[in-house]
Amino acid sequence: MTHCPLCHRQCVLKEGQTGFCQARIMRDGISRPLGYGKVTSIALDPLEKKPLARFYPGKKVLSVGGFGCNMACYFCQNHEIARAGEKEIPWREISPEELCDLSRKMVPQGNIGLAFTYNEPMLNLEYIADCADILRPLGLKTVVVTNGCFCLDAVREFLPKVDAFNIDLKGFTPQWYRRLGGDLETVKAFITAAHQASHVEVTTLVVSGQNDSPEEIAALAAWLAGISPVIPLHLSRCFPRYHADEPPIAGQMLAELQETAGAYLDTVLLGNI
Ligand code: SF4
Repeated sequence: MTHCPLCHRQCVLKEGQTGFCQARIMRDGISRPLGYGKVTSIALDPLEKKPLARFYPGKKVLSVGGFGCNMACYFCQNHEIARAGEKEIPWREISPEELCDLSRKMVPQGNIGLAFTYNEPMLNLEYIADCADILRPLGLKTVVVTNGCFCLDAVREFLPKVDAFNIDLKGFTPQWYRRLGGDLETVKAFITAAHQASHVEVTTLVVSGQNDSPEEIAALAAWLAGISPVIPLHLSRCFPRYHADEPPIAGQMLAELQETAGAYLDTVLLGNI
């Protein structure tokens, strides 16, 4: 039995066993990516859709997803791929060389590189790293959209390969993170280190009656401003999906939370409105 060092779960796995995320497997005593080169979705998206507001605005990025996630949000907006293993969803094998070539060919359409998104891409960081190493000499960018619930000892060297992160900060209480199968302190450490390595924007999916108190959003924004007040915060409205039945938060309430966070941060944007 060996443990996987990648995330807060620290799964203890037998040889050939897959972890909670369904995307890492123990082989020869090392945690390896099951999803290397396995692409389940691909689309040329505006950067604003990631969301990234201060990184190449108006341009597009070729966005790819795989499968699996290390958290278990009951409102997951992408549960079809995030809660799936490799046998439960169709995928297509694309090597880093092929994917980067495809990205390069889309530059005339406004593409700036590759975004790894949709499911939890950090579970496949070896694939992202190999793509990033090809993209950078071509002048193309690597973007990662992540829950940020990964241990720094395992990912610190990877962070500078990424040009821009959007990182979820799903709320600001340990209880809420526990309910979602994550760990607040791990995410805070990840955001702090990622900001030192590359461009960072943060997204909070606001769930009605759960993480929408002005006190919680104020504490979250104040903490983020302590790293840097120029980090953009996206407050995104959660719609009932997967196992969630909370109604979407009222637009007026979301606007008030924008004002609350805006007392600490230069840029607070609303999403899903
Ligand atoms: S990355 Fe996957 S296998 Fe590794 S500790 Fe996290 S959930 Fe477990």
